[in-house]
Amino acid sequence: MEKILITGHKNPDTDSICSSIVMEKIAKHFGVNAEAVRLGDLNKETEYVFKYLNKEPQRMIEKVDDGQKLILVDHNEAGQSVENRDNAEILAVIDHHRITDFKTPTPLYYFAKPVGCTATILYEIMTEKKIEISKEDAILLISAISSDTLLLKSPTCTKEDIDAFNELEKIAQIDAKTYALNMLKAGTDISDLTPETIVELDAKLLEEGGKRIIIDQVNAADINDVFSRKDEIEEAMNKEIKDKKLNLFIFVITDIINTNSKIIALGDSTDIVEKAFGQKLDSDNSMMLEGVVSRKKQIVPPIVKNL
Ligand code: MG
Ligand code: MG
Ligand code: MG
Repeated sequence: MEKILITGHKNPDTDSICSSIVMEKIAKHFGVNAEAVRLGDLNKETEYVFKYLNKEPQRMIEKVDDGQKLILVDHNEAGQSVENRDNAEILAVIDHHRITDFKTPTPLYYFAKPVGCTATILYEIMTEKKIEISKEDAILLISAISSDTLLLKSPTCTKEDIDAFNELEKIAQIDAKTYALNMLKAGTDISDLTPETIVELDAKLLEEGGKRIIIDQVNAADINDVFSRKDEIEEAMNKEIKDKKLNLFIFVITDIINTNSKIIALGDSTDIVEKAFGQKLDSDNSMMLEGVVSRKKQIVPPIVKNL
């Protein structure tokens, strides 16, 4: 039987990695020959999950063959997808993001909900279809929900996410909040990463209104742990702007304890950032955004609105 590949987005985060694996189980439940794959290295937060579970992550791929059948999780935008997606066949999408450029020549399953995490949608599908959730599945799903909602504190977090988290905690039989805080903290350690890696870690490319914009987000237990490396990070950002012909690069440092963010903005279109947030960038190209933690809900929409 032909194998269907399940992938999350490029620069995979914990939701993309963990939801692909759980989706493989759901697909197999329905008799589909599916394999979860990933489009990049694990970040340290996701590494923590696999160490905790004493489990190997799925295999990595970069592109797919013409005609490959795909299930997409945690994204739908072409720019975030596997290479050669245009020549593949998308059978299903399970996602919690905006839909802007999505088109297919054939009908498909599309599960979208404006919840905080793809894993929450998978939890609901498993519950509805009475698919058994193992302890390991529960920990994978808790990890994804905690990552995407900053432990249920992000404005993207919904009642569905909280309900899923609480039910999964019972199945996992762990203190999920303690586990998740340790996981988030593991993800903030970027001390041994080069600035080139840091600016690509969780970078998302937006192509809209004739602009090419990258927004990269890193979590920190203390903003200064990252901001103290501003000079080398800016150098790497400027290289990305040149190499990828960007109009704007926004680097977001998110304080996971106090739930604030500080951004650094570079490029020829930084005026968009000033308009979007109604404040001027400081002379060091930075801006403090009080209460902002969600790229999806609090950064992308005002940016897009001001293009
Ligand atoms: Mg994601
Ligand atoms: Mg997600
Ligand atoms: Mg994310």
